[in-house]
Amino acid sequence: MKAVLNTGEAQALLQASIDGELPDERGRFGPFGGRYVPETLVPAFERLEKGIAEHLHSEDFQKEFRAQLRGWVGRPTALTFAPRLSERWGTEVWLKREDLAHTGAHKINNAIGQALLAKRLGAKRIIAETGAGQHGVASAAACARVGLPCRVYMGAVDIKRQAPNVDRMHRLGAEVIPVETGDKTLRAAIDEAMREWVADPAGTYYLIGSAVGPHPYPYLVRELQLVIGQEARAQIIEYAGGLPDVAFACVGGGSNAIGLFYPLLGDSDVELIGVEAGGIGDGLGENAATLATGTPGVLQGSYSIVLQDEHGNVRETQSISAGLDYSGVGPEHALLQAVGRVTYVGARDDEALQALEELCETEGILTALETAHAYAAAKRWSKDNPGKRVLIGNSGRGDKDMPTLSRLPVRTKYDASA
Ligand SMILES: *Cc1c(COP(=O)(O)O)cnc(C)c1O
Repeated sequence: MKAVLNTGEAQALLQASIDGELPDERGRFGPFGGRYVPETLVPAFERLEKGIAEHLHSEDFQKEFRAQLRGWVGRPTALTFAPRLSERWGTEVWLKREDLAHTGAHKINNAIGQALLAKRLGAKRIIAETGAGQHGVASAAACARVGLPCRVYMGAVDIKRQAPNVDRMHRLGAEVIPVETGDKTLRAAIDEAMREWVADPAGTYYLIGSAVGPHPYPYLVRELQLVIGQEARAQIIEYAGGLPDVAFACVGGGSNAIGLFYPLLGDSDVELIGVEAGGIGDGLGENAATLATGTPGVLQGSYSIVLQDEHGNVRETQSISAGLDYSGVGPEHALLQAVGRVTYVGARDDEALQALEELCETEGILTALETAHAYAAAKRWSKDNPGKRVLIGNSGRGDKDMPTLSRLPVRTKYDASA
């Protein structure tokens, strides 16, 4: 926990957060967030900010967005009771099924929302970056849907590792640009996409993939993802007769977690727990547990918590799940941790794999490796909290992880008695 706030400040910031007053006009979530970008990009960000203010909450845009969510994405997604898992864990477990959304994860909510916004802002083409390829696939699909050309920047190393997703993007009509600079992975791809945006800020829209980056992206992505929590909150009240005692979500950049948590912030009896990748151990470089082990700093245009050494050099991360393998985290999560509203814990690779197998066997749901981390932490919590009602954000499906899973023996680690 990074104690950068005194109690009074923390309380005031939490209240402002619940009241929907954050980010402030400087794009800050308390001390976190803001916009640290080169001078050449400032006009592009200001244009985006103005466009969001004009369109995002207009009746017209919201109507169009809701219609796409319903008719194309397949919302509302189900809220599923998990009876056999509940019996095993001794808690009452409910799953918010973002795996049932089009393209297999929550990412599509954000991608279609931003693609529609890009159209309204008069963009002629969309650029995006991708690491594992999931956001690239969602962006390619959303661009096809709204009829805009899509160019996805992807590190050369990731292109090799994620060949099936590169193929999916191509089939969905996107152009995939290999990035040979820097670390040749996600970070370099983001830098390259930004460079491309500078070259044509009026005609190009940059479609970011998580609740990270310079203001107004963390805000925009939250507003497009909070449909997850709005639906889940209403569904669990209707089906279970009340709010959950706790909600879990995995945290990479933090978009599915903020989407689930944000509508629950004001429900002070609901404990909120974000789960990061604990990787193979607690040492630096062995995990991607940014909030649990990082320190404040600027990464890719935003002041947040970062995995870095004492000289501010960003650390490499390690996780079995590509979507959690990132050394930064969205600034709103840094604030929610600092004010004590959300707790962030880690789950290791092996715990996540066990949880994935247990969910397959008990409920017939193959969840994403990212999501499996949330299950691992929820299982641990259940041991100390029998009888409580647990909500888990099931952020995506695991079909994309079959190449990773196929390399591992089935059920060697899963222990039903554990
Ligand atoms: C990308 C991804 C994540 C991590 O991204 P967030 O922005 O932290 O939500 C989590 N789960 C799935 C299934 C993903 O594809």
